[in-house]
Amino acid sequence: MRTAIVLLTRDLRVRDHPALAAACAAADRVVPLFVFDPDLQAISANRTRFLYQALADLRHTLRGRGGDLVVRHGDPVAQTIRTAQAVAADAVAITADISGYARSREHRLARECTRHRLALRAFPGITVVEPGALRPAGGGDHYRVFSPYNRAWQAAAWRDEVTAPHAIRLPDGLDPGDLPPAPPGESPDAAPGGETAGQHRLHAWLTGAAGHGRGVTERIPGYADHHDDLAADATSRLSPYLRFGCVSPLAVANAARALDGPGPAAFVRQLCWRDFYHQVALAFPRLATDAYRAPAEPPWRRDPAALRHWQDGQTGVPVVDAGMRQLRAEGWMHNRARLITAAYLAKHLRLDWRDGVRWFFRWLLDGDIANNAGNWQWVAGTGNDTRPYRRFNPIRQAHRFDPDGEYVRRYLPELAAVPGGTVHEPWRLPGTVRRDLDYPPPLESPGEEPTWLRA
Ligand code: FAD
Repeated sequence: MRTAIVLLTRDLRVRDHPALAAACAAADRVVPLFVFDPDLQAISANRTRFLYQALADLRHTLRGRGGDLVVRHGDPVAQTIRTAQAVAADAVAITADISGYARSREHRLARECTRHRLALRAFPGITVVEPGALRPAGGGDHYRVFSPYNRAWQAAAWRDEVTAPHAIRLPDGLDPGDLPPAPPGESPDAAPGGETAGQHRLHAWLTGAAGHGRGVTERIPGYADHHDDLAADATSRLSPYLRFGCVSPLAVANAARALDGPGPAAFVRQLCWRDFYHQVALAFPRLATDAYRAPAEPPWRRDPAALRHWQDGQTGVPVVDAGMRQLRAEGWMHNRARLITAAYLAKHLRLDWRDGVRWFFRWLLDGDIANNAGNWQWVAGTGNDTRPYRRFNPIRQAHRFDPDGEYVRRYLPELAAVPGGTVHEPWRLPGTVRRDLDYPPPLESPGEEPTWLRA
């Protein structure tokens, strides 16, 4: 009789789960184990809530297949070994991950498994192509530029998807442990966690079925044309489900690739960006704290008051404030708004991009080191952008991607009465109208060089 432990982390699904499938194929009894790690609690109330919901959903699914989700608290390595000993397991399976924390956890687990004569196997699953699997022809351990990575990624042979186990048998007498109800998050309109919710969202995105999400008018066929349209909200909103592995990135990419047209192709390319940043983060684990390359811009200013205005969505630049309010309301922000708000912080206000990383990381349901820090560094000009001096004029961006001002009015009720695109520049309104708006003047003259550069 063989018994295996599957230590789950951010691979909270049964579909296309290589570690779970392999454990179920090789062992008679399988323990899907999740350990609440105190070191990872309290980083983000939004993600904690999403995590609890995803775990409850996974437990429900596993119970439906004869198994259960076993829940423990404490150090994941110690708890895995303790559980393995309690059920006389011979093997442990995990999904390999890339962060410094995840890798040190995996190293410690490997050491302890050797000590306790347990076979440890790490499986792919957090990306489409495994981080580190593709190497540039000219040498180096990772791709620094997206386009050549994308070419290699599109041409690579992707692994085969694995089917979800139909039946899972837990060792007799093992206490599965309690799973408390999900604690409240900070964002009232946050999406619910879990594989079931993720599958609904994916299905709706691919097929146009009803219930895709609030305000979403477009599905994958329109993605190439509309993904930057702030008000249409025409993106998949799959990112939190990818972040927690509630959906398999490979299955999402395969499903999109099976569809014809520019929409699916553009969408698959975005999934490649996700893989790209994962292989960058694997090679450069300090991505969230250290410039990937020397800052292209002058040193950052310290200005706690300006930072607070940005965080609160009170900069006086409506498109920036709308993005920041969306982040708080939903624990998610449209990609175009992320670019605009991040560029405003790093290149207009010239504040430290790491403050932006931290703020986004607190609120985002999809917040993860590779994508958050990778994108922040791209915007700040310290990362993988081949044009690090690029500037985003928030006002031009606003008129281009929210021409009627609908996105801004959705998140800034104080500007709800300002019609059309004029909402993007309230400082141009007649003084009498402006005075009646409960909205601050802009922190800096938008579109101009910040005053401290001219001084
Ligand atoms: P879609 O447009 O439907 O794209 C599909 C998937 O492709 C996304 O779910 C995501 O997994 C991936 N993707 C899309 N754009 C990017 C990108 N630029 N980089 C990496 N992957 C991408 N994404 C995160 O998942 N977590 C983060 O913490 C994060 N932080 C960001 C911070 C900044 C400053 C910026 C500019 C972008 C950040 N992104 C992050 C990338 C992107 O904004 C989100 O992935 C996207 O908005 C999620 O919405 P969606 O699922 O509807 O995306």
